[in-house]
Amino acid sequence: MTFSGTDGNQQGLYFGFKYLIGKTNQKPIVYVSEEAHYSIKKLADVHNLELRLIRADAMGHMIPSELERMIDASRPALIVIAAGTTFKGAMDDQEAIDQVLRRTNPVAVYRHVDAALFGGYLPFTKDRDVLNRRKLHYDSIAVSGHKFFGFDEPMGILITTQDVVQSINPFKVPYLNDAVPTITCSRSGLAALKFWWKIQRTGADGFAEQATTILANAIYLKKSLDHIGYPAYLNPLSNTVFFKRPSDAIIRKYDLAKDSDARLGGDLAHLLVMQHVTRATLDGFVADLKTELKATQ
Ligand SMILES: *Cc1c(COP(=O)(O)O)cnc(C)c1O
Repeated sequence: MTFSGTDGNQQGLYFGFKYLIGKTNQKPIVYVSEEAHYSIKKLADVHNLELRLIRADAMGHMIPSELERMIDASRPALIVIAAGTTFKGAMDDQEAIDQVLRRTNPVAVYRHVDAALFGGYLPFTKDRDVLNRRKLHYDSIAVSGHKFFGFDEPMGILITTQDVVQSINPFKVPYLNDAVPTITCSRSGLAALKFWWKIQRTGADGFAEQATTILANAIYLKKSLDHIGYPAYLNPLSNTVFFKRPSDAIIRKYDLAKDSDARLGGDLAHLLVMQHVTRATLDGFVADLKTELKATQ
């Protein structure tokens, strides 16, 4: 259990750092897409890690050829894979990244997946293999508890392998007669109980139903926007629809987050279709955009 997605990312970076330094005696370089969550950049600051931001395409995915250009194979590589970028909901292409790693062959590699939001629902969809570790060989994955799972306070999970836990050579604590490999020493037992409660109450079928609903509603929103001729974008496997930024009044009414990208015509906003976002809400939103569109034409 972690305290948040960020805490999980920090743990992943720390395990990665310890794992790679254990294998090579060299500090790794962190590679992450420029569109990945800002927590990664902040954590690289906190831990004084060399960070290389890899350019992303207009839809938000790390560009594999850019990674290839930026990689220094003489140093260990700590790759952070975005499984759902925050603004555009892009999944980095793990297979393409793996091909780059095979070609460039850095002295050692550790892959951490940041799946704060998407990691909650993707395992319950037919596309679950995009996070299947038997197929994609990542070393750790972080998921937030208060996003898809909807907990009432920040929490999360980090999953890693025995190989990682056994290779990091943690500091032994004499009075515990053991080592505590996690960064925080105390963690919330209540958070684990809440997760257990949620799993019992909702079950895999319940999560699958929620996952299907949010993805179908995201496609519904994208189609509705296409229908009125409003510039909008939706990545595969994503519940995050992004579109030309509407007026401040609409931004305020729906509490939308803003960004911009010259490649997509400039100012943008996005809407995350979570479980509580109904089709009625989406219809109202699209009607508001349509009214605004008419007024400006
Ligand atoms: C929200 C988010 C985070 C941060 O998670 P917190 O649980 O809010 O700390 C990290 N990465 C991604 C991709 C996110 O969407």
